[in-house]
Amino acid sequence: MEPLITGPFHRWTAARILPGIALAGLLPIAASSASAQQAAEPQLFSQSAQAVLESNFTSPNLSYLLLDASGKVLAVRWPTPPNLAQQAVSPGSLVKPFLAIAYGEQHGGRFPTVRCLGTESRCWLPRGHGNLGLEEAITQSCNAYFLELAAGLDRQRAAQTLARYGLTGPPVDASAANLAGLGDAWKETPLAWARAYLQLVNEQQSPVQSMIVKGMLESARRGTAHSVDAALGRNAALAKTGTAACSHTPQGAADGFTVVLYPAARPRLLLLVRVHGVTGAESTKVAGAMLRAIGAGER
Ligand SMILES: [Zn+2]
Repeated sequence: MEPLITGPFHRWTAARILPGIALAGLLPIAASSASAQQAAEPQLFSQSAQAVLESNFTSPNLSYLLLDASGKVLAVRWPTPPNLAQQAVSPGSLVKPFLAIAYGEQHGGRFPTVRCLGTESRCWLPRGHGNLGLEEAITQSCNAYFLELAAGLDRQRAAQTLARYGLTGPPVDASAANLAGLGDAWKETPLAWARAYLQLVNEQQSPVQSMIVKGMLESARRGTAHSVDAALGRNAALAKTGTAACSHTPQGAADGFTVVLYPAARPRLLLLVRVHGVTGAESTKVAGAMLRAIGAGER
């Protein structure tokens, strides 16, 4: 496979512009040249980020989407077939947080403790995760946990919940496994997935969303997305991984997905990546390196 990361990182560019994007949201825009410059900074950042990513991450195996906190696209490289239906992707376990929100709404915000026995529980970790609740299940992306949630879900009410996040949801005849991100029945466009994550993080004052966000923080620290903190620093970001059946021709072993929100405390950037031929955990390394390259993780 081709190397996913090539060339030097242009950190100087991003180091100058990342503070600008933070300021731009906080400062009133007044009619002075200094303020006009600040107002122009987000666009400068977008252009620089796009240029840095284009020159350093050239692998044809990589697709990505970089958004600001408002959901605006800052940089993108994602093959877009003309048929809208073909643009939709099944990102494996990236669906799990939204399954959890739908479940929470139908069960008064109460979540079970589930015992994951590994292979016999249809989990990706052969020896199993043991007993876990929602937060740890997000961190470990435990299949057994979310299969249990999916089994107890009213599909029609779930569709209403998902619509609030801009998601169409899986077809009505989808299996519980599909609802948990196994198989490829549940498809949304990359932009829809990314914006749904922004909304979820914006709602983290709500109890269920708060548990999910904590699970994503821990995922970046020690879970399936731990390569994110390795690249950006401890507690730097929120992250979730997904491993999907490969949708490419010729077919690879898997497509790895990662969503990262940075910085963790108040995300200004969302990066969604898909890496052909690797697992979600592997794709996380690329996501971390991309965010480093545009200035994240610097102090
Ligand atoms: Zn498990």
